Amino acid sequence: MMKSIRRIPPLVAVLLSGLLACSPQPETYHQQFLAFGTLMDLTIAGVPTAQAAAAGKALEDDFAVMHQAWHAWSPGPMTRTNALLAEGKSFSAPPSVLPLIKVSQRLAEQSDNLFNPAIGHLIKLWGFQSDEPNRPRPPPAAELIRQAIAKHPRMSDIIIDDFRLRSTNPAVQIDVGAIGKGYGIDIAIGHLRELGIDNAIINAGGDLRAIGRNGDRPWRIAIRGADGKGVLGYVETDGDESVFTSGDYERGFTWEGRHYHHIIDPRTGYPAQGTHSVTVLGDDATTADAAATALFVAGPDDWPRIAARMGIKDVLLVDSDGVMHMTPGMQQRLHLFDDGAKIRITPLAEPGP
Ligand code: ADP
Ligand code: MG
Repeated sequence: MMKSIRRIPPLVAVLLSGLLACSPQPETYHQQFLAFGTLMDLTIAGVPTAQAAAAGKALEDDFAVMHQAWHAWSPGPMTRTNALLAEGKSFSAPPSVLPLIKVSQRLAEQSDNLFNPAIGHLIKLWGFQSDEPNRPRPPPAAELIRQAIAKHPRMSDIIIDDFRLRSTNPAVQIDVGAIGKGYGIDIAIGHLRELGIDNAIINAGGDLRAIGRNGDRPWRIAIRGADGKGVLGYVETDGDESVFTSGDYERGFTWEGRHYHHIIDPRTGYPAQGTHSVTVLGDDATTADAAATALFVAGPDDWPRIAARMGIKDVLLVDSDGVMHMTPGMQQRLHLFDDGAKIRITPLAEPGP
């Protein structure tokens, strides 16, 4: 069903759209640093500046370690793990990758393998494991894609026995590009809490987790537009919530007039069709990150089923025709700027067996 939604006057929209992710009150502390190839933006409220700055430094160090540990192609614990998985023998997992592999296995299963971080071979084939992911280039040969998907790499091919790993399928190569940022943000939020900080936002280029509030107000979180430019609206969070968006504008290249983006449908081996962007609101950033990718692949018809399986309540999916599909909860919470938007309200499916 098509419905109208709460609108905001255009002037307010213009003022708000100038702010990327939140509108902090003056006493908030701000810091930026690079991690996971993105500009990270840390906002902390309610503690003295010196305490916030020390926490900021600690987080910058955390992210540097995680970036190195999980990198898909620069040599480190993840590339070592992938080399050993391909050999099929049992080996001791590096401690920096084991918990992330475990949670990825669970979320892959919950997403019906639409979130499938075992398709590292395909991601590499498409040239997205590169420092220049947007460089124009021909897409991979159809035969190579067919061969890669015929081997059906799955996270469930990895046998975990205490601290040891073994792959029953030599085609499994892990790429945590769709979950690493979320998992890293969850670790960093835990660290902030240990440091006595209960009101903060950790924002990785529009993907974020917000805890507590901004003084006497909730945090205000901008939702990126489906084309990656500007802001389509905002939600307010009070407590603990993660907001993650996956979009076809993030990384990709154009070749002979066609655009190829970086979210791959593991069933076809090609960039997922039918979706422009997906925003999910979730409790933890790890699940929200994996779910945004999975729902993007699921597309405008199947997303309510996958969202229910993954335990996500609120979703906004903009399809390739620009129609905004959203849950009733998202409709209630989203303050939308564009009053001409086509909106379709869809409840989640009942969780299946
Ligand atoms: P963003 O990096 O824009 O936040 P995502 O969280 O959706 O986007 O992650 C996209 C990245 O995840 C890709 O660059 C690739 O490394 C990896 N990836 C692509 N398709 C899938 C998929 N179906 N399942 C798991 N990982 C994927
Ligand atoms: Mg993701």
